[in-house]
Amino acid sequence: MSGVTLDRVVKEYGNLQVVHGVDLHVAPQEFVVLVGPSGCGKSTTLRMIAGLEEISGGTVTIDGRVVNRVAPKDRDVAMVFQNYALYPHLNVADNIAFGLRIRRTPKAQIASTVEEVAGILGLTDYLERRPADLSGGQRQRVAMGRAIVRNPKVFLFDEPLSNLDAKLRTQMRAEIKRLHKRLGATSIYVTHDQVEAMTLADRIVVMSDGRIEQVGTPMDLFLNPANTFVAAFLGSPP
Ligand code: ADP
Ligand code: MG
Repeated sequence: MSGVTLDRVVKEYGNLQVVHGVDLHVAPQEFVVLVGPSGCGKSTTLRMIAGLEEISGGTVTIDGRVVNRVAPKDRDVAMVFQNYALYPHLNVADNIAFGLRIRRTPKAQIASTVEEVAGILGLTDYLERRPADLSGGQRQRVAMGRAIVRNPKVFLFDEPLSNLDAKLRTQMRAEIKRLHKRLGATSIYVTHDQVEAMTLADRIVVMSDGRIEQVGTPMDLFLNPANTFVAAFLGSPP
């Protein structure tokens, strides 16, 4: 089965279990938003899918391949972080190109790909600048450029817009949705922002304390919350 599948996924730090056997299937080209209070295990779950965190139990399958033992760079995923994770000493072009360089992509191909990605993200005029000389929105675009440059099938977003002001958040939200569609990607997006979840998601996954409380379309969850926790989180009518 393609897409992303979590089967009884567990995460333990020492004796402490923080993700307690999560089951989830994200269909190809679906946009799934993971919500829940701080500390409930959203980032840990995303990082296990990306390969940045060891999986303590269960399996993660990406496009039909169990990836538990596959290195991050060999998984068909890219992750966009809240703090951008840009290299301060590299200009925009080199930041975008980074993921291609470490895979020894030919120079000419790197140049044309960087040009294309910069065009998609409106960064063509900023390729020579360093991150310090960009606005928050531009930095977030570079971070997205770094993610899309390898043309991965799966995008993982960890609260990518939290550092932006409200106006820019609304704008970038629309851009992320547009990119997702344009690239035919499968996206898993973590946020604690209810509006972001409601507007971006095909389906919302509500997590609490390392478990999934409910999965459904924004309308399903809003109208038929499984419990008071989900209702409170989504602000459903009592
Ligand atoms: P969220 O992203 O939903 O805010 P996290 O996935 O970051 O939550 O964290 C889930 C739980 O795991 C929290 O209780 C957190 O303290 C714990 N945790 C995260 N990283 C580590 C770590 N490296 N060592 C020990 N505990 C951790
Ligand atoms: Mg987090």
